[in-house]
Amino acid sequence: MTTPHSWEYRGVRLDFPLPPYDCQRALAERAADCFLDGRDGLLESPTGTGKTLALLSAALGWMRRARTSGEGSSSAPASGAHVVYSSRTHGQLSQAMAQLRASVSATESSMSGVTAVAMGSRDALCLNPKVRERSTQAEKNRMCKFLVKSGKCEFYNNYSNGSGAAAGPDGIVDIEDLVKTSSKRKICPYYQSRDLAPKADVVFLPYNYLFDGRIRGSLPLPLRGACAVVDEAHNAAQVCEDVCSLGFTPQDVALAISDADTIIKLIQKRDEGSSDSSALAEAALPEELTLADAAELKEFAVKFEARVLTMKERVSYTGQELADAVMDCAGGLRRNLAVIWGVLDQVLEAARALEGLGARHVGKGLSTLGEILGLIQSIDRAVLRDHYTLLHSSSSSSSDGASEFGYSKGTRFSLWCFTPGVAWRTLKATGLRAVVLASGTLHPLSQFPADFCADFPVQFVGEHVIDGPKQVRFEDKVQPVKVGE
Ligand code: SF4
Repeated sequence: MTTPHSWEYRGVRLDFPLPPYDCQRALAERAADCFLDGRDGLLESPTGTGKTLALLSAALGWMRRARTSGEGSSSAPASGAHVVYSSRTHGQLSQAMAQLRASVSATESSMSGVTAVAMGSRDALCLNPKVRERSTQAEKNRMCKFLVKSGKCEFYNNYSNGSGAAAGPDGIVDIEDLVKTSSKRKICPYYQSRDLAPKADVVFLPYNYLFDGRIRGSLPLPLRGACAVVDEAHNAAQVCEDVCSLGFTPQDVALAISDADTIIKLIQKRDEGSSDSSALAEAALPEELTLADAAELKEFAVKFEARVLTMKERVSYTGQELADAVMDCAGGLRRNLAVIWGVLDQVLEAARALEGLGARHVGKGLSTLGEILGLIQSIDRAVLRDHYTLLHSSSSSSSDGASEFGYSKGTRFSLWCFTPGVAWRTLKATGLRAVVLASGTLHPLSQFPADFCADFPVQFVGEHVIDGPKQVRFEDKVQPVKVGE
């Protein structure tokens, strides 16, 4: 069934709640080209031209067609024919969801039944005060994982006992809806959004959820065969570089060694059957974590401190040189690195437990070490050589002084990825059918293929909306001033 403002384009019905501007029609059709043909696009349309609505209309039109024609195998979103809509902030995502909601209610006959959910961080969704009071995202994540594992979050317990998953909110559900409805029912909105996402027609999520492979890999969101819209994409290149980069300080490495020491002492007490065993049990040391494993991890961290932190003879090193140094510390074998990575995961679990029981900042150093190892494990050597640079910087301010570990507080190492194409390549490897980068300004478009090391076969630059009768000519309003009067 069509609406008064629908039209058919290449077998896709494009619905609008109001008569579309010419530039809106053109944008919707170019977006449909991307989705139909499985080609990536760069679509620029000035602010005020109804870009979001045009993109959503094309995405939903393609989804309907794919499902009815069997391209997506079935009507279930998890089968592939669904849409991922990404923007930079939760505010921008909320605005896009509001447009979807308004559009669905105005074109009810054709778009009713559309489901959408927003995904967000624990920062935006967590209800537990013990997590909310933590200052950094990493601390919140560690505390949540501890509370869930130890059965100490009532919101998670209520959610997982069935009252959450079975009765999630329907329709178009943004962050505020999730928090409001979950607060009333005392269930976890964070895990509920993860439960709703694989079943939704459209999933709205912040940039880093799409571009950061570590976050993306943890989501229960099948991307193969789906189409993605990246709105406000003038920020996309910077975000792609940021999610593939990291920074660390000598204090982080010293903290990792100190964390490993703490865990080693706990394991020793456990193995000796210490009378302190109740606290040890609560600390939830993974049973399989042995003293030898933890000692090996500490040895690696000590070598890393001695080797990598002295890489200061030159201003910069390639990412591959850092990887070589890390491999040396791990005994030269990639397999060894994988073993150390596995042990680190177990030690981190114990560290989270300690932190959850009140030990301050245990796990911060190990988390940083884990990020470094994770990145070096996951990125190809040639990419590390060609697209990564390790820089060290040192604040010369005397007020910085020395930290408790004896390092200058101003020293920092940054492993920077200078090519958005690194994140883009891993995103495309998920099997996404097509990605549309859209914004009010993508100028110059010609820069994107070079930066992202990719083709964007569909490119479009829309014009401003010109509403003739309402335009006021400048010379009609301003009387020219004659020189000499
Ligand atoms: S399970 Fe949910 S409510 Fe509980 S700590 Fe984690 S994010 Fe917060």
